[in-house]
Amino acid sequence: MTPIALDALLDALVRKALAGERPAREELLEVLRTPDEDVLDVVTAASKVRRRFFGRRVKLNYLVNMKSGLCPEDCGYCSQRLGSTSQILKYSWISAAEATENATRAVEAGARRVCLVASGRGPSDRDIDRIGATVAAIKEAAPRVEICVCLGLLKPGQAERLGEIGADAYNHNLNTSEQTYGDICTTHTFDDRVQTVEQAKQGGLSPCSGAIFGMGESDDDIVDVAFALRELDPDSVPVNFLIPFEGTPMAGRWDLTPLRCLRILAMFRFLFPDSEVRVAGGREIHLRGLQPLALHLANAIFLGDYLTSEGQPGERDLAMIADAGFVVEGAEDTEDAGDTERGDEGAGPAARHDLVALRRRGPGSSLPANT
Ligand code: SF4
Repeated sequence: MTPIALDALLDALVRKALAGERPAREELLEVLRTPDEDVLDVVTAASKVRRRFFGRRVKLNYLVNMKSGLCPEDCGYCSQRLGSTSQILKYSWISAAEATENATRAVEAGARRVCLVASGRGPSDRDIDRIGATVAAIKEAAPRVEICVCLGLLKPGQAERLGEIGADAYNHNLNTSEQTYGDICTTHTFDDRVQTVEQAKQGGLSPCSGAIFGMGESDDDIVDVAFALRELDPDSVPVNFLIPFEGTPMAGRWDLTPLRCLRILAMFRFLFPDSEVRVAGGREIHLRGLQPLALHLANAIFLGDYLTSEGQPGERDLAMIADAGFVVEGAEDTEDAGDTERGDEGAGPAARHDLVALRRRGPGSSLPANT
């Protein structure tokens, strides 16, 4: 694509996003095909959309894995799947008190939403009662927090029940395109997942649904699942990048590059201009040094750890947000949140003596140089 054609494409995508118009399939495919040297132009364009709807805010979500491992389903990307030999933590339901202790610590660190997740095909009515006790305990400790639950496939009436017990949102991802869904899972279908998101919506829960990339999908698959998600009109859209766990069929799959992740996130921002786009699992391992650029596209991240793998330390997430000139959602009105007397520098840490390490290796020392 010539520079002029790229400029015209990006201008059209920004205009459509700001006007709430749906982009064309071919336009989104062009975003995914952008040459490496032009990716910053794509990020700049999509960041205008992000800024228009979300300013400098970054929403922090926090995951609590209520029940880990030993799932009867066979989702190929998942370390908790049937037959997984990943050496993950495995446990049955944690108590409401343990979940609340973890959740309140995250809320104190800035999390606005807590996501209560349990492995399994779907919840029993007893599981819903159990989640209800946890939701009540967390809301008593942190009344303003939003609670999203992720319990698998829903049966009729369960979404309404979850609403009654105080859940605000329901997460169920589509993960990949309908056409390739059978390649990643055989125990349930793409349509099962769509139905659950529909049920969550009909039950009055805020729908959260996204996808996972890096599983061998084509650009067409990415656009297909993105359009399928748009049909569902989710309020939040987690964009995951495959964590290729040893002991799963996807072990050893490292298809993504940091620039590819940015293209995917930009494409999602153009398609979901005013929805929460969250850069979710795999952020650290695939974006690596380009994580801060993702904040110009996504307006939410998970704070701290994921379900079965560790994220970077939560304090590093917070420092990254501040260093990149963003503010944690909910902290905008505090003095350190920017637009204060210290102006745009207000978000930065006052002093980081811990970052200065005196050299003790290389020339003048007996230790090898840092190369
Ligand atoms: S249903 Fe959920 S926990 Fe079970 S294998 Fe699939 S993704 Fe993993």
